[in-house]
This record gives sequence, structure tokens and C-alpha cells, in this order.
Amino acid sequence: AVIGKNEKEGEKTLRSPICCIMGHVDSGKTKLLDCIRSTTVQEGEAGGITQQISASYIPVEHIRERTKELKADAKLNVPGLLVIDTPGHEAFNNLRSRGSGLCDIAILVVDIMHGLKPQTIESINLLRMRKTEFIVALNKVDRLYGWKTCRNTPIGKAMKQQSKDVQREFDHRVTQIITQFKEQGLNTELYNKNKERGETYSIVPTSAISGEGIPELLLLLIQWAQKTMVKKLTYNSEVQCTVLEVKVIQGCGTTVDVVLVNGVLHEGDEIIGPIHTTIRSLTPHLMKELGGGAYKEIKAAQVIKITAQNLEHAVAGTALYVVKPDDDVEEIKELVMDDMRNVMSRIDKS
Ligand code: GDP
Repeated sequence: AVIGKNEKEGEKTLRSPICCIMGHVDSGKTKLLDCIRSTTVQEGEAGGITQQISASYIPVEHIRERTKELKADAKLNVPGLLVIDTPGHEAFNNLRSRGSGLCDIAILVVDIMHGLKPQTIESINLLRMRKTEFIVALNKVDRLYGWKTCRNTPIGKAMKQQSKDVQREFDHRVTQIITQFKEQGLNTELYNKNKERGETYSIVPTSAISGEGIPELLLLLIQWAQKTMVKKLTYNSEVQCTVLEVKVIQGCGTTVDVVLVNGVLHEGDEIIGPIHTTIRSLTPHLMKELGGGAYKEIKAAQVIKITAQNLEHAVAGTALYVVKPDDDVEEIKELVMDDMRNVMSRIDKS
């Protein structure tokens, strides 16, 4: 089976957009990813510090299901959405900046009870520097005093169920947070009032615990990516792949987790990074519902665990190249060395 295949091949084929989740520690990034990828929202799980990048591929059928109440007539043309959660802890600065650099679009999570915090501002600066589009998830709306839970409901509908007091507190907090964004030089507006998308960033109120607002968030992400990034998202046979992490796994030896941004990887492909080896197996990071296991080939975009011999010298942040029949291996090795020097100088600076 090939995963990441478009439902209708033949039309202009788009790859899945890569979306990363950024924001202050404890704003709910991990929980939001859990909520997006699960069909049923679980409650009461203890939060912890995410120690590594976690990623999930959300197939478009799942997104269609989650957004059906919105009755959006717009077509969803991408095979899915690849969501990457970059750890918020200070110690993972380097990892965070590596993950976010690969994103097409981002979700910036802000806790409605706390507003903008130092890492929110750090995230804004990273996004601005890389000119990455983003949508603000104004999370934890369920913590507004007196909030009536409307599980997995569009936020537009859930807001109508709330008392006048809740609506008043909501408006007050939103106004304050819009002002805080303004102080950072950013125009933001609630998604349903935003008439100037592109210049003004949209805010979608969400609860990662009970799921309100997730439908709007998903729909907006996909629609915005499809509308503004067709060129970037057009599927390409040229492999574009970056190493995220090098990990020793019991029973598998050293493995690498990569982000396949474009193209397709096959079992048996000859790859060159600082390493030179042949892919033994390819396992995508998938939603639990899709099951685990290895695939013969995987199409972009996807986060994939690769097993192969000699991966010990792979370096996080560098590109992996696939050798094609007519390629000059020495030429590719030159490219790799340039890449290494770049990554090393970036590490020295940080
Ligand atoms: P992260 O550090 O940004 O990844 O934050 P977590 O996802 O670990 O969440 C931090 C804490 O906030 C955890 O205890 C979560 O259960 C809680 N939390 C996250 N999102 C929500 C939300 O929407 N509503 C409420 N009430 N709690 C939330």
C-alpha cells in the first residue's frame, strides 16, 4: 500500500501540508495534537513535558469527518495534514527551531487565561523570520468560568450555547489578547470576523480537552494552505528529506526520524547524508487508528522512522539524498559536506 496518495490522482497532485504546533509551555500544544488526531477525545490525562518531536499524519477523510458540521463546500484537495508538535521546554530550543523550519503553516497556541508569554513571542519571531503563515488557537476556552461543554462542536455553535457572562468574559479576554499581539506588531482577529486574511492573522478559540473549535481550526488550516501555497505543495518526484532525530532503539540499532517534505521514499533506496547506506525499512508516524508497521514506499509529506545499517553518523538537521541511477555519488557527497558545514555553524551560533 502507498500512504499519502491523493484520492483523485490526475488532478493537480498536492502533497500534504506540514503544520507545526508552537507556543508557550503548558499552553496545550501536546493536548491539541492529541485532540486533532483522535476520533474520540479522552479526558483527564496528565500533561507532561514532551521530550521529543512527535508527529502525526491526519488523513483527509478524518478531517472531512471532523469538519462535516461546518458544511463547508470547499474541496479538500490534499491527501492529509502532517502535524508536528515541537517541544516547548527551554532545553529544546534547537529542536524547536529545526522542526519549525520545515513547516508550511503553523498553529500558534495561546492560553486564553494567560495571553502571550515569552515563548509565544519567541515563536512569533521564528514564524516571522521564516515568513511562515500561521493561525492562532486560543486554547482552553473551557476554563472560562461557567463554560458549558459542547464536545467536539464547532466553536461558532458552542459560543451560542454560552451564558451572557461567559460571552462577556470571552470578548474581554479576546480584546486583551488582540492588543497584546498588536504590541508585537501583529494584526489578529477572530476567524469569523477576519476580512483581511493574509494581513490579519485569524484566531480560532479551541479547547483541546473537549474539542470545541477543532473543526474550524482544521478547516481553516487546510483551506488557507490550499489557497496560498499551491506551488509549494505541488507534488514533486525529487526527494526533499531532512533528519529530525538520530535515536538508538532496542532491537533496531540506530534509527533516524526524518521529515519527508516532498517526493517518495522506497525500501531499498540508496541514501546519502554524512552516511551512505540502503534503507532497510520505512515506518511512518501514524495515528493509532491506521495501525503501525512498515511500508514499501511512502509519499510526502510524512515523518518516517528509517532503519538501515551505519546510521550512527547521521546528523539531525541535515538533508538526506536519494541516489538515482545516473547520479554521481561524489557530487552528492559534496552537497552533503556543504550542508554539514551549514548545520554545524548554526549549532555553534546557538
Ligand atoms: P504543552 O506544554 O504546550 O504541550 O501543554 P500540554 O498539552 O502538556 O498541556 C498543559 C496542561 O494544560 C495539561 O495539564 C493539559 O491537560 C492542560 N490543557 C491543555 N489544553 C487544555 C484545554 O483546552 N483546556 C483545559 N482545561 N486544559 C488544557
